Amino acid sequence: MEQNIIMGELLQKNKEFSQSNKIEFDNLLELKDKHTKGQWPKSIVIACSDSRVPPELIFKQSIGDLFIIRVAGNVLSNDVIASAEYAINHAGVEQVIVLGHTSCGAVGAAMQPDNDSPFVKKLLDKIRPCIKEGMTIDEVAIDNVNHQVESFKNLLPSITTKAVNVVGAFYDLESGIVEVLENKSKEISEPVEKVLVTE
Ligand SMILES: [Zn+2]
Repeated sequence: MEQNIIMGELLQKNKEFSQSNKIEFDNLLELKDKHTKGQWPKSIVIACSDSRVPPELIFKQSIGDLFIIRVAGNVLSNDVIASAEYAINHAGVEQVIVLGHTSCGAVGAAMQPDNDSPFVKKLLDKIRPCIKEGMTIDEVAIDNVNHQVESFKNLLPSITTKAVNVVGAFYDLESGIVEVLENKSKEISEPVEKVLVTE
């Protein structure tokens, strides 16, 4: 229930963002001072590094509200999982959002022939199991979100005994709207969580 309230608030704030030309944050100094003793963020957001997808702005959230982990292509890695584990077990977070977006450069790169450095290849290889012939970048990006959500859910029992809600969401660069995805991850040949342990 609490988690539904959090998602409802974030989606409402996103709607406001998509319709506003200006965002103002109140009480920043008070919030800064309040959080010197700790943090109690509402949600973890695993988002793409893309400069056009800043989670605090698109959800109209302020200091202490979101525990954000950003990496190109919003893919899981051992470090991403470890960061989320900290927020769940030590900052009391029970909501996780994996946030993809339209026209994702990392997804586009994953759909190109592989001629990247070992670092880039390792990241793109986490997206590539989602690619099927004829799919658009956005279709692969949505499947990638669902795939990461599924993998995160599978990993949850190894990081916490708490009930944590994990959802996938997708941000449209044009409309500014975030939509929650229904998780319908297709058969993927290589589950992310299997890749992680050998990272
Ligand atoms: Zn991206």
